[in-house]
Amino acid sequence: MINQSRGHPTMKMNNASTQPLFEDWDMYAKWLRQLDITVYDYPYMESIILNGYVEWLSQITELPELSEARFFVANHQGELIATDPNEPNEMPEVGESELLVETVLNCILRLDAIAIPFPGGSYVAVPVFTRTKGELFAVLGCRIQGCDHKAALLLMRTTILHFRTCFYKNYESIFISDLLLLQQQAKREEHRRSMLFEVVQKLHDKIDVDSVLTEIFELVSGMYPAAKLELLMSQDHLSRDPRVKSLHLQGNEEHICVRAFMEDRVLHRVQPDMEGEAYLELAAPLSGKQGVYGIFHFVILRDLIDDVDFQLIGMLADTAGTAFENAKLYEQSNLLISELRLINELAKRLNQSLRLKDVFQFATEELLSIFKAEYCSISQINKESDSFEIMSCNVPGLSKETFPKDYGFSGLVYSTKEPMILSDYKAHGKVPSRLMDDTNSRSLIAAPLIVRGEVNGAIMLTHRQIRFFSYENYKLLQVLASHIGLAIANASLHAEVRRMANRDMLTGLYARHYVDDAIQEFQKKDVNGSLIIVDIDLFKQVNDTYGHQTGDKILKQVCAIVRSSIRKTDIAARWGGEELAVYLPGADADNAYQIAETIRLRVAMDTDPTVTVSCGIADWVLGDDKVSVETLFYEADMALYKAKNNGRNQTQIAERCKRT
Ligand code: GH3
Ligand code: MG
Ligand code: MG
Repeated sequence: MINQSRGHPTMKMNNASTQPLFEDWDMYAKWLRQLDITVYDYPYMESIILNGYVEWLSQITELPELSEARFFVANHQGELIATDPNEPNEMPEVGESELLVETVLNCILRLDAIAIPFPGGSYVAVPVFTRTKGELFAVLGCRIQGCDHKAALLLMRTTILHFRTCFYKNYESIFISDLLLLQQQAKREEHRRSMLFEVVQKLHDKIDVDSVLTEIFELVSGMYPAAKLELLMSQDHLSRDPRVKSLHLQGNEEHICVRAFMEDRVLHRVQPDMEGEAYLELAAPLSGKQGVYGIFHFVILRDLIDDVDFQLIGMLADTAGTAFENAKLYEQSNLLISELRLINELAKRLNQSLRLKDVFQFATEELLSIFKAEYCSISQINKESDSFEIMSCNVPGLSKETFPKDYGFSGLVYSTKEPMILSDYKAHGKVPSRLMDDTNSRSLIAAPLIVRGEVNGAIMLTHRQIRFFSYENYKLLQVLASHIGLAIANASLHAEVRRMANRDMLTGLYARHYVDDAIQEFQKKDVNGSLIIVDIDLFKQVNDTYGHQTGDKILKQVCAIVRSSIRKTDIAARWGGEELAVYLPGADADNAYQIAETIRLRVAMDTDPTVTVSCGIADWVLGDDKVSVETLFYEADMALYKAKNNGRNQTQIAERCKRT
């Protein structure tokens, strides 16, 4: 019987180590032909001898001379490897087996062909030598009948060369099949490389995080349709893909995925399932330059995956990690850019106007739209009343309301100087809030308006839905609040500068240019108005007597009397050195006379040292020939001149304006 169980010798061949690289077939063929077995190869030889033998047998059946022969083949030690497969039961016959063994051993001992006859036939054995060194490595023989032993010997000697050719052909084919195997492996390797290259390209084209993850799944499940895949993310990552889960580190230290994460390397193990089938479990970290983002977890039947593919999956995960990191960074920078753009836009809009009212209005509108909030309130500290005053609010009942500095969330923000986020007002329930109550709001973000290190106000944004605002919203509000604070500070400063530019420093009254402009404006919309010029009598003497400082003091006293003698809508200005101008919108000369006289009498009574004033009055009425501001002043001045000439401490009305 042919022994089929012997293994294929393949690469264990000693000569194989000198095998050339297959580049040129002629060269390879030459190398193959001079290749030979040595005594060291004998232990693995049997299957090649057997294959050569089977091939040889199939070819010699054509020869009628050998039809009666029953062949066998033995190894270099004389152990039978195979008999004749065509007639397995025929040989050896009873009592003849010793003869067969004897023939073979004799052949080996003598290193020559031998024939041992038996009645009616003979056993023949011929040594088979290696092709280069001529060493015996097998014995081929037969039991032949009806033929004399000499003829049989000759026949076998002749055919032995044929057998050797068949043997060497099989021997060489081992190297050729090795070569083919190598070629096949190289092809597979090439395929893997090109796939990896494709993956790298595809992944690096992706700029959004989710599609990077989807791409990895598609690639790997395309390669291993039978594999179970999941991606365990170390950070919170929201994905539409149900295969993306989170990696729980605590209490799972021994889990393959947790270990792969901690050690940042590919780990795998083979485990049997319930039915005893071997499964391969592989955990490959998805890592970038900044850390490990997650673990790619892969489970497949052991038989369905090659060892070399572990490395490939590791490389894939590595590539995916870099792509994921890039996409993540891109996402973050995009977020940052849009935030910066928003800040820039807001700052631009806020700076379009220097009017405080506009700034509050813009800020409220912008904040509502940026945060998709339902309600917004911006309040400011009123220094005089020491309370929060709502400057802008889209809840009608709350505009202009004032609250104590320690009240509600603005009070909280005021005391902590920190922004805050509230996910559910009802659940919190510690701080009372009109804004939240009046609007039924549940979510809130609030930030202080800080100007030069001090809390100057508070911004509050609310929504009726719980958990409406995100942590990013809260951070962004903090940034925007600083810009809004700055815009408010700028506008306030601007208002202050404007106020100062229109005021006289010494007296606190309006400056001359202000009253000129104001009268022009009144003349456009009113039907009449009066101007009083008030001049301190003999003020030079006062200065000379008491000194300039006392003079200033008296001037201030006079101004205070003037201010307190007129309505809020009237305008008192310092016209010249110690001359004051008072414009009374909607008053005629007679009304103005009353006021002037009040002033005159009060000055005479309430100044210390006592001074008196003289007043000149002029007025205008719609329909008169157009009276210019200059004319009005000129006429009032002339009336004043008259009062002075008349002995001072009196009021005179310009001629044109006397109606009674
Ligand atoms: P009358 O108007 O009654 O004719 O006499 P008068 O002395 O007030 O007249 P005049 O216009 O000649 O002098 C105005 C004086 O007012 C000159 C100046 O010394 C004084 N004066 C003007 N402005 C100021 C001021 O801001 N402070 C002080 N202390 N004196 C001033
Ligand atoms: Mg004077
Ligand atoms: Mg004067």
